[in-house]
Amino acid sequence: MPTEYYDVLIAGGSIAGLATARECSSNGTSTIVIEEDHEIGTPEHCGGMVSLGGLQKLGVLPDSNNFQNAISYARIFSKSTSFELNAEKQNVIVVDRRGLDKQIANQAEKAGAEIRAKCSFKSFSKNQDRYIVKTSEGEIECKYFVDAKGLSSLRDATKDGILASAQFEIYATWIEGQTVEIFFDSEKYPGFFVWIIPSGEGKGKIGVAGKGINTSLALNEFIKSRGKKYSIIRKIFAPIWIGGPRPSFIADRTLVVGDAAGQTKPTTAGGIFSCGMAGILAGKAISKAIEKNDDQLLHEYEKNWKSMFQKEFNSMLFARKVLERLDNKSIDEIFSSLSRKTIKDVSNFSDFDFHSSALDLFLKTKIATNLTKILIGNELRRIFSS
Ligand SMILES: Cc1cc2nc3c(=O)[nH]c(=O)nc-3n(C[C@H](O)[C@H](O)[C@H](O)COP(=O)(O)OP(=O)(O)OC[C@H]3O[C@@H](n4cnc5c(N)ncnc54)[C@H](O)[C@@H]3O)c2cc1C
Repeated sequence: MPTEYYDVLIAGGSIAGLATARECSSNGTSTIVIEEDHEIGTPEHCGGMVSLGGLQKLGVLPDSNNFQNAISYARIFSKSTSFELNAEKQNVIVVDRRGLDKQIANQAEKAGAEIRAKCSFKSFSKNQDRYIVKTSEGEIECKYFVDAKGLSSLRDATKDGILASAQFEIYATWIEGQTVEIFFDSEKYPGFFVWIIPSGEGKGKIGVAGKGINTSLALNEFIKSRGKKYSIIRKIFAPIWIGGPRPSFIADRTLVVGDAAGQTKPTTAGGIFSCGMAGILAGKAISKAIEKNDDQLLHEYEKNWKSMFQKEFNSMLFARKVLERLDNKSIDEIFSSLSRKTIKDVSNFSDFDFHSSALDLFLKTKIATNLTKILIGNELRRIFSS
């Protein structure tokens, strides 16, 4: 049997890989996506929180099968205090990731891409101007290879920046209808937090991540601490990436997109928007390189992604470094120093897809004056407790 040939082979059929496939195939490029799992979108490793604006830019609006809830508020807790943001202006929604991924798969398929589930990437080698890709279903040749394998690729590159996470889907009376809740506790969840994302009809996705913690134990303890009846209908355990983007996304005619390139927000590990955009930009660059017969144009992908996100990710990496050092007393003090005006400004003017806008607003206010004092106190406590 002759070896199959496609211009573009994409390993990984999730948001980044499927967006790349849709973009390539809608420009007439022959494209195949291979996905090792038996079903696109499954198992789902995601809370599904995303902005409508972000989804619009990704060229996909959730249909009635995927839409789960709209978020109106975010309540953020430290150990002894809390504050609430009005999130209505951010147009944040909760989607069923399984359905969303299938919707993009459907768009890509309609545009001409072929999608092959239960087909794993094994290895690849180069033969003149083609790659020979070994898969669980035999060899496929291609001119361009896209690595969209998620964290399995990043883990090979570096372990720094990976946190274990757990997320349970539960029914509970204490899940707020349209309020996302975030709980910081630097002792229980160092460097991260517990989240509750309401997905409608009394259901929610409740998760935790943190450096060096047993996520299952931490999440069970948190859920029990709510003290009321609940039912767990699904449990997932998956790593998240908070280490920022890889220095380079392109080598030869191989492009790395999504989690595989470290393109998730270092503050929350959210990646639907930034990873999906990477897919679109990579697909555009490949199409242009083919059209103009100039592989230098592949670099437009990296240039365009970085001009959209790099500054934002640098700010978030900085915020993460600070968060990782803060003890509970400092987090309490920072939350207590937020004025009503600051909270209102952040509610009105920040952008869900670019968190540094909220950070900038916080830093322009009274908190900036207090912050130095709080951080000095924090560092002194670290010195005396070590
Ligand atoms: C618990 C949790 C909650 C999250 N919540 C949110 C949220 O609310 N909002 C948000 O924006 N982001 C969230 N994220 C992050 C988001 O899910 C990811 O950033 C996003 O899915 C990355 O997409 P991707 O296509 O790069 O990679 P992935 O979604 O990881 O997909 C990689 C794909 O490659 C496939 N694959 C792997 N190896 C092979 C191989 N050898 N051959 C073929 N296929 C292979 C996998 O099966 C998988 O389908 C969350 C992540 C976690 C873990």
